[in-house]
Amino acid sequence: MTTVHTSVVVPCFNEDDVIDAFHEELVGTLEPGATAFEICYVDDGSGDGTRARLKELAAADHRVRYTSLSRNFGKESAMLAGLRMARGDVVVLMDADLQHPPHLVPRMLELHSHGYDQVVAQRDRTGEGAVRTLLSQAYYRLVRRSMDVEVVDGAGDFRLLSRRAVEALLTMPESNRFSKGLFSWIGFDTVSFTYTNVRRAAGRSKWGGRRLLEYGIDGLLSFNSRPLRLAIHTGLWLFLSALVYALWIIANVFLDGVDTPGYATLIAAIVGLGGIQLATLGVIGEYVGRIYHESKRRPHYVIRETDESAPAQPDARV
Ligand code: UDP
Ligand code: MG
Repeated sequence: MTTVHTSVVVPCFNEDDVIDAFHEELVGTLEPGATAFEICYVDDGSGDGTRARLKELAAADHRVRYTSLSRNFGKESAMLAGLRMARGDVVVLMDADLQHPPHLVPRMLELHSHGYDQVVAQRDRTGEGAVRTLLSQAYYRLVRRSMDVEVVDGAGDFRLLSRRAVEALLTMPESNRFSKGLFSWIGFDTVSFTYTNVRRAAGRSKWGGRRLLEYGIDGLLSFNSRPLRLAIHTGLWLFLSALVYALWIIANVFLDGVDTPGYATLIAAIVGLGGIQLATLGVIGEYVGRIYHESKRRPHYVIRETDESAPAQPDARV
């Protein structure tokens, strides 16, 4: 149905400093290949010259397309916009900051030709701060244990997807998109290889500590209800032990006539239970918040403009 073989989807948010270098390197890598390609840039509401630059690139080369979102909707939404835009039989997702080296794309295509629907380029943690490495490793251990789908450390968004994998991704309507989980959820034959982590070529990373923490919570909660179940289990066990303890005190008083000074245990019980209740409420609140969020069925993004005559696919929701 399409004449484009490979679509490369690139979300860009304030990448003015690096976009030209990226574009040049990417085109230089794709051009020698025999297959037709297109590059789909998504400007995620950049405040610098990114949008103007993408427009120029698209005007100069028919293989370059772009969509611009009306504000910053976040990388997940920008990727979704790009996936909807892509027409290729194969879609490669990558970052604009050259941390996803374009020269790996031919290798991904080669692996895809062996029948894999997802090819993941997995970075190691070379050159990353020790604290960050430690924290993310601990996080992924936690996620692996508590999540219903498998998520691998370092396996990010630099991946190739076959057309049917893309179609599967696009059937998932949730507004809270934790794509690492979504990629794993859709299944299909997946292969991965490791490459050495590189530093951002220019510009700044948009992932500060707070944003990472929120992303982490999203990941934990959006794919399972285990934290909720854990809260229920803890609550039940606590209730049972409190019951046993109360019976024991009553038995003591009746059988031995011991007078128990109660305030210390009372305080301990109140504080302990209060804490657990607060935590549980928090967990429940998170889920309720998510339900509220999903139930609004808002689109994932709003398109400001696109270079195509026909608008990019509407943000249709099932
Ligand atoms: N990005 C985006 N929207 C955002 C944040 C980031 O489209 O709100 C893009 C960004 O332009 C880059 C990619 O997502 O192409 C990865 O971002 P970044 O390099 O800041 O993340 P890091 O590599 O530090 O994880
Ligand atoms: Mg980066």
